[in-house]
Amino acid sequence: MTRIPMLDLKAEYEYMKKDIDEAIGRCLDHQRWIFGPEVKGLEEAIASFLGVKHCVGCSSGTDSLVLSLRALAIKNTGEERFRPADEIITTPFTFTATGDAILRAGATPVFVDIDEETFNIDPVLIRQYLAEHKAGSTDGSRVVGILPVHLYGRACDMDEITSIADEHNLFVVEDVAQAFGGSWRGGKLGSLGTTGCFSFFPSKNLGGFGDGGMVATDDGELEALCRMLLKHGGRDKYNVDHVGYNARLDTLQAAVLLARMKHIDDFNARRRAIAGTYTEELRGTPGIVLPDAVDGHVFHQYTVRVGGGRREALQKHLAEEGIGSMVYYPHPLHRMGVFADGRSRMFGDLASADRAVAEVLSLPMEPLMDKDGIRKVASALKEFLNRP
Ligand SMILES: *Cc1c(COP(=O)(O)O)cnc(C)c1O
Repeated sequence: MTRIPMLDLKAEYEYMKKDIDEAIGRCLDHQRWIFGPEVKGLEEAIASFLGVKHCVGCSSGTDSLVLSLRALAIKNTGEERFRPADEIITTPFTFTATGDAILRAGATPVFVDIDEETFNIDPVLIRQYLAEHKAGSTDGSRVVGILPVHLYGRACDMDEITSIADEHNLFVVEDVAQAFGGSWRGGKLGSLGTTGCFSFFPSKNLGGFGDGGMVATDDGELEALCRMLLKHGGRDKYNVDHVGYNARLDTLQAAVLLARMKHIDDFNARRRAIAGTYTEELRGTPGIVLPDAVDGHVFHQYTVRVGGGRREALQKHLAEEGIGSMVYYPHPLHRMGVFADGRSRMFGDLASADRAVAEVLSLPMEPLMDKDGIRKVASALKEFLNRP
């Protein structure tokens, strides 16, 4: 039986082997493992790719969020961290790290429900929370920023989110971990907020051979603060100003990522083509809702909704056919212990996020998979879903 995995990193390595081996070979020659030339090279390449003034490499996507938020706290409040009364609006339907970064920066996440069709935070509800909160806040809390997540590679409505932020004087930190190369009305994701935060976890659209991340910004002060915070908090290594981290991007990761950058547009186009074939094959199948290939969607995941409580059975059927599938994510943030005990706020009942966690299923999305593979996945789905 030919197995179809979610992802085939070995195949991608074989495909780019020459570029990657040469990049690693150069590091072996120069031995500059910390802040080697490849780190600066990658920062410049991504800044120019996104059209932003500054990019700061760091140790993970999670750290790129923490560094951004800590830098904003220092710049905007003069304190090391936000206070619990400082609220940051985000989505409950994301990877834990999004909300966790807000807690680690000292603020309180406010979970606002998602749009059922896009799976992204609903700007109408952001507006509603701000209106009600302004009228009703008696506890001294205030909203300081918005942290939208471009889930599965699809952009949030950044026109709405940035205009809400402008009206209320809020920062916008974009979580672009799943959307490298994606865009909103022609603007690259990660270049539209106050900062954009990227992950180079191996399975992301631009993935390294380990952990890595990047902060993108046009704000020179935030850039300087992020650079200080990621190396213990000081401009000077032995005379430190802020409570910092050891959160550098390794030279070796930067070298691998630079080699993989060469293929990013091609690979994102392949993802869109695979999504197109899935949709062609699956259109009209009962009991399933397909994602919409809007402009700028880079399909980190091709995620369908399976109704009627049949998801687990479908997943089992796919597994029996040797086909991988994943549930991103099985638990919404507002139901996790880490966000309990007053550490977060919920706006409304977050019913759409609760429905999403029960229905979503992501199908194999390996940019190098061929049409036969895609068709095999689609027919296994159809075979199951067409059963009464
Ligand atoms: C992967 C991911 C992160 C965290 O990135 P790491 O590099 O794993 O720390 C944050 N947010 C989202 C939406 C992600 O998918």
